[in-house]
Amino acid sequence: MNKDRIIRCITTDGAVMACAADTSELVFKGAKLHITSPVASAALGRLLTAAAIMGAQLKQKDASITLRVKGDNSETGAVIAVSDSNGNVKGYVQNPDCPTEYYPNGKLNVAKAVGRTGILNVMKDYGTGEPYIGQVQLISGEIAEDITNYYATSEQIPTVCALGVLLDKQDHEVLLAGGLLIQLLPGATEETIDQIEKNVSELEPMTTMLAKGMSMEEICKTALKGFEVEVLDETPIRYACSCSREKIIDAFITLSDDEIRSLADEKGYAEAICHFCKKKHRFSKMQLEEIIKQKNRKDEKE
Ligand code: ZN
Repeated sequence: MNKDRIIRCITTDGAVMACAADTSELVFKGAKLHITSPVASAALGRLLTAAAIMGAQLKQKDASITLRVKGDNSETGAVIAVSDSNGNVKGYVQNPDCPTEYYPNGKLNVAKAVGRTGILNVMKDYGTGEPYIGQVQLISGEIAEDITNYYATSEQIPTVCALGVLLDKQDHEVLLAGGLLIQLLPGATEETIDQIEKNVSELEPMTTMLAKGMSMEEICKTALKGFEVEVLDETPIRYACSCSREKIIDAFITLSDDEIRSLADEKGYAEAICHFCKKKHRFSKMQLEEIIKQKNRKDEKE
């Protein structure tokens, strides 16, 4: 049974929101699918978790959010994560087998692999054709701090973000993953801010709380200690890709006739592999000709 879920809570005075996510299974699945090195598992897992949490903040049905981290001198290459408002999360790392380095304390050096400087892109697609695009500089490469910085600079929302991925010491499989987002809403008083800062300073790392078996509700309530708390909603989340033949055909149609023909290999097949789920979509020469016909019929109509 999938236990991955997101819970959103708010203080009854409406001053602070907390959102906690258990993403253990979906990060495990993502790491297995992409055969990631330990540090790539951590980088992808953190970004998948951030996307899941940020996706849960989208109020519109069928809205989606895409996070793209591209560090300078990055060993992982770009790391991408996409989530929709229905709890479907997916992602990939450009170089999943990048080398893994550790800090002296034994923790994975995610910043080294991702790049300490670079860009975080945030794209919110509300399904209306006018996506919101935000971009901030990376400030650490450890990802949680970069998400915090994104909210502070791009959306002017005071935010605390914690993300954690725990790997097995022996086989490096993902054991636990999760995240927490705390946001001050308009109307938060100095007193509220002081209390939240105190709570945050006392919070244990996300993976420690998960390892203790704390529920997402307990984690939110710990973050909002000292306040009366109401659970807003609870959403199951999962690793899922919505790629389809139709969507690939839509992409082919943007190419010229010759470009479409050139997609076929010497055996006469074009193969498109989905970055997110690695599913292979295969088209024969004849099917490519069909697509060209379909495209030209469309062009004539326009
Ligand atoms: Zn796919």
